[in-house]
Amino acid sequence: SLQDGLGSALKSLRGQGKLSEANMRDGLKLIERSLLEADVSYEVTRTFMSRITEQAVGEAVLKSLKPSEQVVGIVYKELVDLMGPVDHSLHLKGKDEVTVLMMCGLQGSGKTTTCGKLGRMLISRDRKPLLVAADLQRPAAIDQLHVLGEQIGAPVFSDRTTQDPVAVCNNAVKEAKKLGADTVILDTAGRLHIDDELMGQLGRIDKRCSPDQVYLVVDGMTGQDAVNSAKAFNDALELDGVIMTKLDGDTRGGAAISVKEVTGVPLKYMGVGEHLENLEEFHPDRMAGRILGQGDMLSLFEKAQQEFDQDEAQRLEDQLQKGEFTLDDFLKQMRQIKRLGPIKKVMGMIPGMGAMLEGTDALDGAEDDLKRLQGVIHSMTPEERRTPKIIDASRRRRIAAGSGVEPHVIGDLVKQFEPMQQMMTAMAGKGMGDRMKMVRQ
Ligand code: GDP
Ligand code: MG
Repeated sequence: SLQDGLGSALKSLRGQGKLSEANMRDGLKLIERSLLEADVSYEVTRTFMSRITEQAVGEAVLKSLKPSEQVVGIVYKELVDLMGPVDHSLHLKGKDEVTVLMMCGLQGSGKTTTCGKLGRMLISRDRKPLLVAADLQRPAAIDQLHVLGEQIGAPVFSDRTTQDPVAVCNNAVKEAKKLGADTVILDTAGRLHIDDELMGQLGRIDKRCSPDQVYLVVDGMTGQDAVNSAKAFNDALELDGVIMTKLDGDTRGGAAISVKEVTGVPLKYMGVGEHLENLEEFHPDRMAGRILGQGDMLSLFEKAQQEFDQDEAQRLEDQLQKGEFTLDDFLKQMRQIKRLGPIKKVMGMIPGMGAMLEGTDALDGAEDDLKRLQGVIHSMTPEERRTPKIIDASRRRRIAAGSGVEPHVIGDLVKQFEPMQQMMTAMAGKGMGDRMKMVRQ
């Protein structure tokens, strides 16, 4: 990995007073290669590298960090700044008004799918979306949107009798209120390549319907193409944000940097799969970690640092080191971890865990289980939480009645808890604690 490569490249730095261009050269070369491999455009990489070098030169070599970590830290921070700031707002107006979101992008970039994903998200936020089929290029595009609308339970506005997408959009916006919608999502046509006709059409929709937000959908797998199209779209329309799709799999997402750099508008969301729930907020810190090829490690620990109650974490850690881990600790731990995101994702960020969980259903339903588990643990006495072994049949019945589950669930929990306890204490032994400490400094 980059971290390993840098480790050896910069080993010689230890004991030197300051970072300099000369003593960082090999490390910087690695970073440059890593960026290019991640699909960051050549131009952007070059500017970026000179900025990094300028910034790092003269910095004292820190005692607490390895120089490699120090350089990665600087690069990481700069990447986060470059892709930030975080802005997930869709700038929705009040529900009594109609907010219009216009989606544009090349053919196949994921516009229609993203309309469905956004619609689904809006419904979960108690909004009423209306999907508008304004891609009249291919008849199948209208059908595709209708299927999505049915899946998420949102109305779809289409008109198969016209060839004029501007009219379709305009009528949809006019009808939105009558159809009970408060948010209109325009699914416009794309082309395989940028052309004037397409840009003219989008420009007319923009002018006629004055959307509140115009979002560009770009395919994160297309690298340099994504950058070129982003530039063209941004020149023709005033973009308010970018949604980058297909960032699932092992796409490293360097295009995110270049796209941000050329458009200057925030990256709002990312598509991480074909399914409707595969839409995530864009987080510059996570993306920076990914571009640097370190998975989500840095962001996990940075986030952990912000979110974890420091004293509580220290106490837990001490207890883990001593091999003590109670159901109470488990509850607290889970509550903290949950703040970081969905359990499966969070566990996947822990080194070694990602590979272990790959292809298993070990954590499917973990969220629901956890909620149930919390209820059960809350119904236990402090003594039972400390020493689950004492839970006999009559205690099981009492706890079951208190938490509204079948008594055997309590037995299962106690049985499951033991290996978990062992895993947690084993992880503590493997330096999880040390990592956390390093980040806290
Ligand atoms: P459009 O032409 O811009 O409307 O693109 P579509 O929404 O029809 O998507 C084109 C293809 O990309 C479809 O096969 C989608 O399932 C797929 N797709 C869209 N978003 C994602 C994503 O985030 N991840 C993956 N893996 N596929 C996606
Ligand atoms: Mg489409």
